Order: sequence, then C-alpha cells, then structure tokens
Amino acid sequence: MSNLRIIFILFLLSLNLAISAQKITSISPKQIIGGKDELLTLKGTGFGATRGTSYVSFFNEGNSYSDATSGNELNYLSWSETEIKVAMPLAFSNKVKVVINSKDYLSADTLKVKANLGYRKVYPLLYTLLTDNNKNGGVSWFVHPVYWNNPLIKQAIADVVQEFRCKTGANYIIEPLTKLVPLSLGEGMHILAPDTSLGVIGYNDKLWSSCILGADVFYHNQTQLLRFNTKQNWYYGKGQPPAGASKFRYVLMHEMGHSLGLGHVNELGESMFPTVTLLPSDKWCSRDTITLSEAKAISYYIAICQNFMFRGCGITTMKPNVDCKDVFGLSLGTQDKLNDAKVSIFPNPAQDYIYVILPTQNTNISAVLYLKDIHGRIHLVSNVQNETQVLLPQDLPNGIYMAYILSSQSQYIFKVIVQR
Ligand SMILES: [Zn+2]
Repeated sequence: MSNLRIIFILFLLSLNLAISAQKITSISPKQIIGGKDELLTLKGTGFGATRGTSYVSFFNEGNSYSDATSGNELNYLSWSETEIKVAMPLAFSNKVKVVINSKDYLSADTLKVKANLGYRKVYPLLYTLLTDNNKNGGVSWFVHPVYWNNPLIKQAIADVVQEFRCKTGANYIIEPLTKLVPLSLGEGMHILAPDTSLGVIGYNDKLWSSCILGADVFYHNQTQLLRFNTKQNWYYGKGQPPAGASKFRYVLMHEMGHSLGLGHVNELGESMFPTVTLLPSDKWCSRDTITLSEAKAISYYIAICQNFMFRGCGITTMKPNVDCKDVFGLSLGTQDKLNDAKVSIFPNPAQDYIYVILPTQNTNISAVLYLKDIHGRIHLVSNVQNETQVLLPQDLPNGIYMAYILSSQSQYIFKVIVQR
C-alpha cells in the first residue's frame, strides 16, 4: 500500500470519528428565562436521528442535573443528528447536558438562566394562576396593623407593590388588616405581616385550589401569606442597608416575586437569588427595582392570569390594573360604574383605527383618549369628540391595551385588543 493510500484511509477514519463523536458545539440563546416556553437550540453532532431514550438535562436548584424522568417530560420541538430544539424548563445556570445511551455530553458554554417561572407541569405548560380574587380586579394584600400604622414600613410596602404593578401589570393592592387573625392560610385572606416564630428571614406561603369543570381542571392561588421574621434588624429605607441590617424592601421584593410565580435562580445580581441578606446579595440589594428578566417573566405569567378562558366556581380573570400607581385601590370603587357608561369603542379587536363614541346628550363634550399598555406606558394621546375616528400608530404591537377617556366630568376605561 502506498503512503498516499494509507494517509487517505487515515483521513477517512478520522472523518468518520469526527462525525460520530457526540458533542454540543453551541447553545442559543446564551441567556434565557425558564418555565415560559422559551426555545433553546442545541447544535452539535451525534445526537441521533430521533430522540429515542436520549434527553436533555439541566442543572437544578438541588445542585444536580435533572434525571431521565424529567428529561422525558420536556417539550422537544425537534431532534436530529445535529440539532435539538427544546422548550426551556426551570433550571439553574450551568452547562447544558445531553444524555445519549446513558452517556453524558456537556456543552462547552454556560447557559445563564436569569429568571424562572414555577409551573405544575412542564408540558403542556400548566401554572397555578392568580385570578380576580378580591372581586375588584385582583388580589388584596391585607397588611398587619404593626406595619400599616408605621409610616416607614407602609411606604416601603406601597413602593414595592407599585414596582410590581407598574412593571408587570400585576393587580395587587394593599388594604389594612382590621381584625387580628392568626397568620394562617386558612383565614381566606392574603396577609402581609411580621411573624415572631418564623425560622427564616421571610417566607411566602401559598394555598392553591382547583376547580374541575368537565375535562378542565383549573388551578389557582386561593390565599397567600408574606411573613417576615421579627428577630431581624430590619432597615426599611431605600438604597444600601447599614452594615448588619436586613433590607425589608429587598426581602419583600424577593418574597413578592415568589407570590407572582417566580422561583429561584443562581444568577448573581437577580432578586430571586436564594439568599436575601448578607453575602452575596448585599452586593446588589441596594437596587430598589426588579430586574428586566424578572419583569419579563412575571408579565408573561400575569398575561396568562388575565386571559385564561376557564369559567367555573366563580373564577374570573385578573383585570389589568388601571392606574399602576394606585396601590391602595382608591379608584376601584368607581370602576364598575364607569364601565357601563354610554361610551363605546369599536371595533374591538382593532386593526388600524378605533371609533370612540361619547354620550350624545352632551353634544359639546370633548375629551382626551390615552392608550396605555399593561406596563402603564402611553402609546397614544388624542382629542376625541362625540364621534371620532382615531388612527392607531403603525408600529403599535399586537396586544391588550387600556383606553382611558378623560373629560372634565368623567373618566372611562376600556380594554382594547390590537390584532393585526
Ligand atoms: Zn426564596
């Protein structure tokens, strides 16, 4: 055999080896949110033409990789020799693993999981939802008198609630707890209170309930508690807490994040990092805002809470919060009256324009229309009269908006769906 032929055969052999070697060459995206159906693509070689008993495995909160049972439950959108597409489940940041014939293959890159939404079932995705629990659009948190009567603490709670209302659309309001009750989920109220016997710094308890209607089972949070350990040296202000003190606003942000569906992450700098006081979170707890990833994850969850189709057991959807700064729900008393007023907006869903019709008995009435998204951002301001056609901005994304029509006498609020 000539040397050339040997080299050629060696070349073929090495080519064959390269093709059959299992390897994850890339993951995309490199940053992701878990538990909200975001797509993760793994590229590489030797994955197998079909999935068979192979699966993708992720690092988890228990500091181990998920097993075959979890791997088989995932939503695989496609699987081929060179590419896997999978809906991203809850996970902690780390390398991603593909298990082929019981052998592990780790990605070279680390996948950063910036936020996680908790679910009951990963495929099809099933959450425990929030509903119109207080029959006033959302959830009333009843604040214990020790907190309500302390202006510093009350302000801290109001600010954190406003942060979630304005950045995620969560319809949470706060009300005073006027009767003393045990700190128990059995009281049927969402209670925010200090707790003298709590073993941890802060805690979010949930009591879920289900309603069965035909083949549908709907899961929702019936009551929740947010409890805070009285033995901590609490700091109620903004910014960096003094040395040795625990920042109440930050711990509340973390626990309220849980109440809105978030799980933990191991990403430094995120509010849902498992430890909330001292190292390492004291490096970023000076922040008084939730992060972009947290806002995205919760907004997604809230949109589902606002749009589910299930009706039964008196369950209705959470309503968009009309004025995100209205943390005490002061405007809620008049909302029902406004909605059956003789003002109409159509078509709804709308495409390029809406018609606004004001009451005809007031022929000279003029008003201003504001179109806001669920984050409270204004997308359109327009003067309207008795009957006005309003063109919608061309770049207005599809979605749900709140139309406010303000005149000198009254305020009307409508939900408008834009669908193009
Ligand atoms: Zn936590």
